[in-house]
Amino acid sequence: MKTLKPVHSFLKAWQPRLLLADWHIRVVDSRAEASSSTIAHITFELSEKEAILYCYPMLFGENRIDRTRTLLHELVHLVVTELEVKLLADAMEERLCDRFAKILQELGG
Ligand SMILES: [Zn+2]
Repeated sequence: MKTLKPVHSFLKAWQPRLLLADWHIRVVDSRAEASSSTIAHITFELSEKEAILYCYPMLFGENRIDRTRTLLHELVHLVVTELEVKLLADAMEERLCDRFAKILQELGG
């Protein structure tokens, strides 16, 4: 991946499927943060339905990282947020997002 185009294509395909079509998600190229061990990260403002999706160097690399799975994980964070499942501990939310990213990918990736 050389540009953010695949990320935009991903969002176009998956936001409606996850009922997130009304969210405005800005994609940020964070390749400059070369030392980051994070692949991608999402921040959001629920009341505005605005999110920022940061794409770190590993997401661009032609390595074994499963880009679709990673991006699905980030979108599931928005799904969880919309449900306002604040009872979940952070680690639990991460596991939930991993699980649903895997399920969704197998269903429609
Ligand atoms: Zn996560």
